[in-house]
Amino acid sequence: MTSGQGPSAGDPTLRRRIEPWQFEASFDPRQLRRETCLLSEVQWGTSPRAWRGCSLNTARHAEVSFMDRLTSEGRLRGPVRCSITWFLSWSPCGACAQAIGEFLRQHPNVSLVIYIARLFWHVDEQNRQGLRDLVTRGVRMQVMSDPEFAHCWRNFVNYSPGQEARWPQVPPVWTWLYSLELHCILLNLPPCLKISRRHHNQLTFFQLILQNCHYQAIPSPVLLASGLIHPFVTWA
Ligand SMILES: [Zn+2]
Repeated sequence: MTSGQGPSAGDPTLRRRIEPWQFEASFDPRQLRRETCLLSEVQWGTSPRAWRGCSLNTARHAEVSFMDRLTSEGRLRGPVRCSITWFLSWSPCGACAQAIGEFLRQHPNVSLVIYIARLFWHVDEQNRQGLRDLVTRGVRMQVMSDPEFAHCWRNFVNYSPGQEARWPQVPPVWTWLYSLELHCILLNLPPCLKISRRHHNQLTFFQLILQNCHYQAIPSPVLLASGLIHPFVTWA
């Protein structure tokens, strides 16, 4: 791919790329779009080559469809290490988290990294427990920020010529809002993020409600990055 020209017509990944509007609509953390979009990268052994794909929720959740497809290819039965990276518009639900856990138990040669744009029904205790279980199983989970949006744009989106550097700019506030809540989930703290929707005018409200336990348990660098606490300064 040549910088500034867009994915070339001969690019074998072209047919698997999604349109810019679809990427923006699916991954913008401010929009609570219904369906899940899953962008995936699979690497085998030490090969730097990544096999990329995109799946959407159908009658089944995108994560389950992905695992079934990979399992049916038969390559997971071999001894070769398989590294999977997912960019998910919504974090896995409780049922998917259970299925992912089972998939990883059956395939110990697989490692999984999940980047999420939003947390799915994050106050539901089954969903919260599911994410904790995944991390306990060794899954690395992180909220998408600018480098991930740029990576997805360049590798999964059918952007127009000259638009290689025009990925959607998401204000950092959204990354740290969801990062704070992900910390609450993983540390087994009560939710600190409240999302409410007014149906009559389709407005969504995001509100942070922090308790003492949040200040005490969430790592200081995370609180500092979000501007919720300030570095201690002494004057000489
Ligand atoms: Zn699910």
